[in-house]
Amino acid sequence: MRWQLGRRSDNVEDRRGASISGPVVGGGIGALVLSLIVALLGGDPSVILRESARTDNPPVNSPRSSRSAAENQAADFVSVVLADTEDVWNQVFREKGRNYVEPKLVLFSGRVESACGLASSAVGPFYCPADQKVYIDLSFYRDLKNKFQAPGDFAQAYVIAHEVGHHVQNQLGISDKVRSLQSRVGKTQANQLSVRLELQADCFAGVWANRAQRSRQILEQGDIEEAINAASSIGDDRLQERSQGYVVPDSFTHGSSAQRVTWFKRGIQSGDINQCDTFQQSI
Ligand SMILES: [Zn+2]
Repeated sequence: MRWQLGRRSDNVEDRRGASISGPVVGGGIGALVLSLIVALLGGDPSVILRESARTDNPPVNSPRSSRSAAENQAADFVSVVLADTEDVWNQVFREKGRNYVEPKLVLFSGRVESACGLASSAVGPFYCPADQKVYIDLSFYRDLKNKFQAPGDFAQAYVIAHEVGHHVQNQLGISDKVRSLQSRVGKTQANQLSVRLELQADCFAGVWANRAQRSRQILEQGDIEEAINAASSIGDDRLQERSQGYVVPDSFTHGSSAQRVTWFKRGIQSGDINQCDTFQQSI
């Protein structure tokens, strides 16, 4: 992917702090005991636990110089991809006579506090609709390459574009509709709706790639294959096979590898969000 000369986004929040891989036991147990005392006194212990989580992992910005060149480059890359999604989605929304509110992107290490709760990097990159922010621990890119065998910068860009796709769904009111529908149906149906939401985010990621290519010629030989490989490697069927050795389709929340590839392709071939209606069409 040709990205080095791209614009950097103003919407990156760098919360990569000091590593918390060391023993957090001291503060942790102290906080636990304290919260127990608070609970015994009739208070709300979650306040203490939340506070302690915050102090265990303070959102300090360690100086850029203490980070490796690779880390700095990864952060730079994410900033360029985010800026590119801003350019594309501002344009798409303008065409529809709407206003696009750009999301923030939070870089964190280890764990992070979002409006959706305290999250560890184990959950992978995610979008929190409550604060309209995308969260990513850059170590996920290592996993993408090594654990999921999906190397390449365009695979990494696809991950950001997918999360931004969730923000677009939020802006269009789609996520709200789905959530309210989900509260009225059974678990299997609710899961089906989640799959459709995820596949639409894949399709939106494809729309971004199409538009970015048309206006800025970002793609290099092999890039689309990288993204398709990533979409297929992180499909729920593959993830389930890896973790438990068998596949349970009813518990899918992201879609199968084939479905993810199909919808990403539909977006990248058309560049049109109207082609991404995963709710009306069969998936
Ligand atoms: Zn998603």
